[in-house]
Amino acid sequence: MRWNTQDTIAAIATAPGAAGLAVVRLSGPSALACADRVFRGRAPLSQAESHTLHHGWAHWPGDGDRRLDEVVAAIFRAPRSYTRDDVVEISCHGGTLPARRVLDALIAAGARLAHGGEFTLRAFLNGRLDLAQAEAVADLIAAETEAARERAVAQLGGELSRGLRALGERIADAVAEVEARVDFAEDVGGVEVPPHVVQAVRSVHDDLGALLDGAAYARAVREGVRVPIVGRPHVGKSSLFNALVGEERAIVTPNPGTTRDRVSESVELVGVRVVLSDTAGLRSGHDAVERIGVARARAALAESPIALWTVDGSAPLEPDDHAVAGSLAGKRVLIALNKSDLPGRVEAREVEALVPGGPRVVAASARTGEGVGELREALADLLGASQAGDVARLAPGNERHVEALERARAALGRAASAGQAGAPGEIVALELREGMAALGEVTGQSVSEDLLERIFSRFCVGK
Ligand code: GDP
Repeated sequence: MRWNTQDTIAAIATAPGAAGLAVVRLSGPSALACADRVFRGRAPLSQAESHTLHHGWAHWPGDGDRRLDEVVAAIFRAPRSYTRDDVVEISCHGGTLPARRVLDALIAAGARLAHGGEFTLRAFLNGRLDLAQAEAVADLIAAETEAARERAVAQLGGELSRGLRALGERIADAVAEVEARVDFAEDVGGVEVPPHVVQAVRSVHDDLGALLDGAAYARAVREGVRVPIVGRPHVGKSSLFNALVGEERAIVTPNPGTTRDRVSESVELVGVRVVLSDTAGLRSGHDAVERIGVARARAALAESPIALWTVDGSAPLEPDDHAVAGSLAGKRVLIALNKSDLPGRVEAREVEALVPGGPRVVAASARTGEGVGELREALADLLGASQAGDVARLAPGNERHVEALERARAALGRAASAGQAGAPGEIVALELREGMAALGEVTGQSVSEDLLERIFSRFCVGK
């Protein structure tokens, strides 16, 4: 590990800014000695029992006259602490300076500044949390919807890890059976895999598939989703944006091409933070500012897997509508046939046919509000709301997890097919082991140091 795990590390664990309290965290073999050089209370902290609180003053080390703040120190002795090393948490006053000065003093007393995520990394390295649980700490801190928080708490409590461990054990049983047969039949030559083992492997493969089916929604819950509202100018994108967001945000004028830039607003739909962006009308821009808006609209579209295409249902389709439809290939698309309060000039199936994948078409009027509720529901469906509930909690929502589980599923699929086709047991066992290793990457049973550093350096300092 590039980060020395024997150092005593310190960081401010709370967010900066005016607040009643701030907490400075200290962890490592000399945490208590280090804290004693800064803390003055009734008795030295190094003599204190675990899980006790101590009132006192923080000083500059070696300078008893230089009081920094009035503090309370909490002692957690190894292994009953967050990191399983000795931990001291010093609560000082909030604001920018008190915690900053206490941290400086601890560093002057021999601690080093912690890297981002280093406390949680130590908790992982010392076996208190597995990798999926450690990552849940970051998810929990970042959660912006109740569903995202529930997901993170379930993962932190080990629900995902237990599920994956159970699948891993079923694969291990299959490996054991295949390898025992191979060993037994060594002198006889190659040995096939019996049908009940192939069946068992296939069933793990299918269970993983069911877990992965919920991944898109779980990921949307975890990360939020950007949904650009696209369409040619003047079809009612800004008006629809306002209707969906529920307030007058975008400027609506009777001149085509007035939404020159993206206006974004987040709304929560089925536990997903949806960032709707009102984009400039997609057409060949007339002036420079409008062209920039159009370029940004295209960029917003390129970034997002989902789009809300708005069509003016009261006017015949124009070449610009066809051009917008052409830019939607490969996306999950919802079509709003807007201005339904006016006589219709466009049929739903006409626009539906322009986008591959059978997109849903909802007639709506941004002006009267008719159909806006249905549009919201259709958007929720597109986000996978029908899979809410357990799926949102248990399915993998982290790209790294999804990627590893897809590799595991593919390996199991190959193992089952090879087994069924009568391939030698050694080959099947190899695939099964690959599947097990991929599962183990999620919980951290099999990960490289590089990957660990990459994961934890994304955490902020103090976690
Ligand atoms: P954008 O350029 O696509 O963003 O379109 P706007 O939202 O600026 O709307 C263009 C014009 O269409 C404005 O005059 C709106 O008042 C009008 N409009 C928008 N939605 C509707 C609707 O549902 N019904 C009717 N009748 N007019 C609408």
